[in-house]
Amino acid sequence: MATTTLPETEIHESKPGTKYVYFFGGGKADGNGKMKDDLGGKGAGLAEMTNAGLPVPPGFTIQTEACREHMRQGKTSAEVNRQMDEALKKLETLQGQPLGKGENPLLVSVRSGAKFSMPGMMDTILNLGLNDQTVEALAKRSGNPRFAYDSYRRLIQMFGNVVLEIPKPAFDEVFDAKKKQKKAKLDTDLDAKALQEVIEEYKKVVKKHTKADFPQDPHDQLTMARDAVFHSWLNDRAKHYRRINNISDDLGTAVNVQAMVYGNLGDTSGTGVGFTRNPATGDKEFYGEFLLNAQGEDVVSGVRTPVHISELHKIMPSVYDQLRDITTRLEKHYKDMQDFEFTIQDGKLYMLQTRNGKRTGLAAVRVAIQMVEEGLITKEEAIFRVEPNQLYDFLVPRLDEKKTKVEVLATGLPASPGAAVGQIVFTADEAVEKAGHGNQKNPVILVRAETTPEDIHGMEVAAGILTSRGGMTSHAAVVTRGMGKCCVAGAGDIRVDEKTREMQVKGQVFKAGDWISLDGTTGRVIKGKLGTLPPKADDPELLKLMSWSEPFRTMKVRANADIPRDAIQARAFGAEGIGLCRTEHMFFGEEKLPHMRAMILASTEKERRAALRKLLPLQRKDFDGVFRAMDGFPVTIRTLDPPLHEFLPRREDLLVEIAVLEATKPRSPKLKGLRSLLQRVEELHEFNPMLGHRGCRLGITYPEITEMQARAIFEAAVAVAKDGVKVHPEVMIPLVATLKETANQAAIIHRVAQEVFKEKGKKVDYMVGTMIELPRAALVADEIAKEAQFFSFGTNDLTQTTFGFSRDDVNKVLPTYLAEGILKQDPFAVLDREGVGQLIRMATERGRKTRPDLKVGICGEHGGEPSSVEFCYQIGLNYVSCSPFRVLTARLAAAQAAASEKLKVEGGRTK
Ligand code: ADP
Ligand code: MG
Ligand code: MG
Repeated sequence: MATTTLPETEIHESKPGTKYVYFFGGGKADGNGKMKDDLGGKGAGLAEMTNAGLPVPPGFTIQTEACREHMRQGKTSAEVNRQMDEALKKLETLQGQPLGKGENPLLVSVRSGAKFSMPGMMDTILNLGLNDQTVEALAKRSGNPRFAYDSYRRLIQMFGNVVLEIPKPAFDEVFDAKKKQKKAKLDTDLDAKALQEVIEEYKKVVKKHTKADFPQDPHDQLTMARDAVFHSWLNDRAKHYRRINNISDDLGTAVNVQAMVYGNLGDTSGTGVGFTRNPATGDKEFYGEFLLNAQGEDVVSGVRTPVHISELHKIMPSVYDQLRDITTRLEKHYKDMQDFEFTIQDGKLYMLQTRNGKRTGLAAVRVAIQMVEEGLITKEEAIFRVEPNQLYDFLVPRLDEKKTKVEVLATGLPASPGAAVGQIVFTADEAVEKAGHGNQKNPVILVRAETTPEDIHGMEVAAGILTSRGGMTSHAAVVTRGMGKCCVAGAGDIRVDEKTREMQVKGQVFKAGDWISLDGTTGRVIKGKLGTLPPKADDPELLKLMSWSEPFRTMKVRANADIPRDAIQARAFGAEGIGLCRTEHMFFGEEKLPHMRAMILASTEKERRAALRKLLPLQRKDFDGVFRAMDGFPVTIRTLDPPLHEFLPRREDLLVEIAVLEATKPRSPKLKGLRSLLQRVEELHEFNPMLGHRGCRLGITYPEITEMQARAIFEAAVAVAKDGVKVHPEVMIPLVATLKETANQAAIIHRVAQEVFKEKGKKVDYMVGTMIELPRAALVADEIAKEAQFFSFGTNDLTQTTFGFSRDDVNKVLPTYLAEGILKQDPFAVLDREGVGQLIRMATERGRKTRPDLKVGICGEHGGEPSSVEFCYQIGLNYVSCSPFRVLTARLAAAQAAASEKLKVEGGRTK
């Protein structure tokens, strides 16, 4: 276990006067729903529900400060122990039961609960207080020995795994063997005697792994469980989840100790989970699942496939009505869709948890709109009910079912929308191996009986997830919805055999590497590799929500687009111009590359100009299309940036080709050309191309390249303008570090502009500006602004050059940096406000000192990342530019940033 220890002098046992423990029960709670920082989401919800007079089993919450102290000191302080014992006494008195003692023992659950819900990340222990004596007392008092032994074996299993860190399979093996021996199909088929035998075996497992007996003292059980919850805050799964969800490691978790209620008392008992609205579609329907004669995790773990909540209406109508009534009240109270947990003990309903439910982007938009219509929230509040990243769900592809024959293998639950097509893998590690990190080289579908938090790294890289067990609230479903990833859950017709690595369905066998297609919107699992169709961004509800948020937005959103097709797409998503048009992408086309190579291989300026003349009309045509697509909006075109060797074949490939030719056709006329190509490739070779002959350095050493590009831009602009299209080219010089570089290139561009205007007899509005992507440029921004009419921060390169990280190699370092907490986030994904952000702020201020009307934007990956967009707004940038598919997200993020300032509300995004 990793604990951080502070230097000796800073150690303090506890802060005097701190209230560490908050009681709830008997209709009253010490805390309330607003205290999520201290009590965690779960504790705050339990307090709030208790205060509202709802049936909540009583208990107490040990607040997050105790966890932070525990992390600092490596142990729980005496004061926390004292307050906990006091609260425990109060609970024992209220219940009239002593913890784990006597004829009528009190049993409790020990539940973690941090400020932000982390599904399945930290483990709960149920039935704590049972031991060899109390299990008999429980059996006698309940008149239900099966229930008592079932509860005890669950305790040993959960305690053994969570507290004593014994791997789950050690217990599963025992349990499965017993089921086999007794020919039991379900867990519930094992009788009291069988469970007693399981308990004896479990105890042996504990002894074997820990060299000690299962702790019989209930108070020991309690303190050990509490401290294990504190430790679990630092386990890898929890850290990983926090990292991908941008939650601080410093918050800590609260611990809830709560009197047990029993859903496993027989067929008048049960447990379930639900949502007040459909979390996948947002439809207003009571949505949930439950199991009779079951406890805690059974519903969500997928061990048994749960039943739809509507069944409860048939089995226990009054409980169902009460549940509906309570959850409707909760939704009104919190003014948001609730995700709740309940247990029925002998026909009596208890509420165990409520929180704002996680939902898909589609559902988030729909629920927000419905709640405005229902008068629950205002339009302004509705804007904040959707995370900008969730809008991506409207852009997820659908399966193309016209072109291929569709064979539906099975239908599971539509757990998370969209479509995914990929090759089957059966483990998370395999998924990572095959798909690679981040860049989805080989799309894979992770196929599991059920997923667990240990699979999270595989789920992250998979294109989609398919499970054969579990419901809409299973781990797979909840996590994928959070990730915006396609998931089909609980496809019960599918058998997943993880040992033989096979998936069996409809008498067919599928192996790792076979292609399947998932439709997460309908739940269908389809054989083979279907195509996908682009989504529609003109959903009426999406447009409605955007129409509420847009009036707040002051910062413009542009798109990065190089070709007319992307520009058209970007306009459809609402882009207000192009912030980055990379001209080099235009050179990679089949018709252009040979001319580009000829230009690079030319040994004299004359030859080079000849090659460039061939490129000119091709480049002009591209600009023409982009200008037309952006009718009236500005288009920022960057002059050539990448090092020239990128346009030539790889040295290794050339060597091989030459060697093969020499061996087979030594007289081939091709050889001469290849050899001179190789020579040029070697001349252009650089040790560090990222810092090499690129950006404006190219244009300065080969001015005729800039000249040709400027000519293409202005000829296209004039031609388009003559057709009546409004056009605003902004020519952007990359990678400058000094004023003189800027002046050198700007002079060429201005000169060519004038030449073209004169030749064609028509002028267009244009600007010349620079990218700021080197720290030096940021430092001398006031100088550079003398020549530059606009700045665009190339935050990818600026992050690279500020940190001195090579973006292409940083993955050797980054995972460790993140795991060690040296960096909180990947700075290439989320703008580093402290360092890179400071440079941006400073350069903007300095630039505007020289030129008050300086237009400033950013055009790196960060332009579509909500927290980076927020930062850009806060420091007064004019626009952000991002890839077309991020435009909606950036628009909402920019609107939220402005609205939260104007309305003085917390955006709720900065965690
Ligand atoms: P998670 O955060 O993973 O949902 P919870 O603390 O909510 O973990 O608990 C896991 C399961 O145990 C839930 O289904 C919950 O309803 C059940 N549970 C927790 N405490 C009690 C209790 N005191 N009595 C009965 N069931 C409980
Ligand atoms: Mg829960
Ligand atoms: Mg750059």
